[in-house]
Amino acid sequence: MSGARIIDGKAVAAQVRADLKGKVEALKAAHGFTPGLAVVLVGEDPASQVYVRNKGQQTKEVGMNSIEHKLPAETSEADLLALVDALNKDPAINGILVQLPLPKHVNAEKVLNSIDPDKDVDGFHPVNVGRLWVGERALVPCTPTGSLILAKSVQESLSGMDAVIIGRSNIVGKPMAALLLRENCTVTVAHSRTRDIQSVVKLADLVVAAVGIAEFVKGDWIKPGAIVIDVGINRVEVPGGKAKLKGDVAYEEAAAVASAITPVPGGVGPMTIACLLKNTLQAAQMQRGIEVTA
Ligand code: NAP
Repeated sequence: MSGARIIDGKAVAAQVRADLKGKVEALKAAHGFTPGLAVVLVGEDPASQVYVRNKGQQTKEVGMNSIEHKLPAETSEADLLALVDALNKDPAINGILVQLPLPKHVNAEKVLNSIDPDKDVDGFHPVNVGRLWVGERALVPCTPTGSLILAKSVQESLSGMDAVIIGRSNIVGKPMAALLLRENCTVTVAHSRTRDIQSVVKLADLVVAAVGIAEFVKGDWIKPGAIVIDVGINRVEVPGGKAKLKGDVAYEEAAAVASAITPVPGGVGPMTIACLLKNTLQAAQMQRGIEVTA
């Protein structure tokens, strides 16, 4: 039986988008321009096509311009770099997102690092990573930003909490650590070489799981009353049925001890695009020297 509050990521993401819609309207009224997000998709990866379609729809729903560049899988690295360069120079484009994965013949790092850091709405550029860690205004990766919003939807101040993040990727774990440090948490980042990981997790008032292994974190690893944010999205085959999405946390077990927990699906997932749109508005405001309200 679940004793935990279930954190409704769909509802929080809808609130974020509604708030953004109002801010985009206010920006148009006061400054007469509409932020634009360019999404570049190379090849025909089906999951990427779905993401890009959803991004495009949600961008328009909040009143911003969505510009999609769909390129064939055989597009050369030079052509891709030339497109990014043109988007960097285009004043109608405030945010640029190059959808990953890129085809193998393209050096993804080179392409991502060619994006103007001020338009880097994914927040992956080393300049934004540096800005985040030194405490300057940065474009911050969307999934950890969304995870933080969900944690704060339970408890506005996270100050003084012991937070354990499982996973140290550049996309989730590391930026999450920077964000929680900024919130005055005492942060531990666990990874595949961490010794006795369950004892480490057991100390946490806030657990963020970003491992990529279905139901890795068990219920008896969770400190009673902890807040659990499950970033994992793992496709698990169900015998005789369709594949199911599972998080990195054994949900039922953890929900019995936690004070609040995100479900999978319907937790962190829906927040990612909402935070991408938030970053696009922030990027537009920063580029125009307007007060950042995103
Ligand atoms: P990743 O790059 O594969 O990183 C996984 C991390 O987990 C690594 O730091 C790894 O440690 C650690 N790890 C692996 N096995 C472990 C073990 N046995 N014990 C402890 N740590 C272990 O993955 P990611 O990109 O951060 O994604 C993590 C999960 O979040 C995935 O399920 C992914 O699908 C999901 N995700 C969701 C969203 C969303 O929108 N909700 C966005 C991005 C990712 P080492 O560094 O030591 O190898």
